[in-house]
Amino acid sequence: MFRFILYTLLLIIVISIVKSVVGAVMKSFGNFAGRPDAPPRAKGRQSSAQLGGDLHRDPVCGTFVAESTAFQRRLGDQTFYYCSNACREKHALVTK
Ligand SMILES: [Zn+2]
Repeated sequence: MFRFILYTLLLIIVISIVKSVVGAVMKSFGNFAGRPDAPPRAKGRQSSAQLGGDLHRDPVCGTFVAESTAFQRRLGDQTFYYCSNACREKHALVTK
C-alpha cells in the first residue's frame, strides 16, 4: 500500500515536470513565431554603414570622422582622416 502512494506521488511530480517543460517549449515557439515581425539588426547596421562609411579617428583632436570626409591624407600605405583642414595641416606639420 505504501508503494502505491509513493508511485502516485512520483507520477504527480513527473506530470508537473512534463507540464512545465511543455509550457516552456510552447513559450519559446511563440517567441520564435513572433520574430519575423521584428526588423533584423544586421539590416540596420548595413544601412548605417552605407550612409556614412566607416568611422576613423582624427589623429589630431580624436574626433571620429566618416570615411567620406574631404579632409584626408595618405601617408605611405596609411590614410588619415581629419575633422577639418586645420587638423590636417597640424598633422602634416608633425608627420613631415
Ligand atoms: Zn580634428
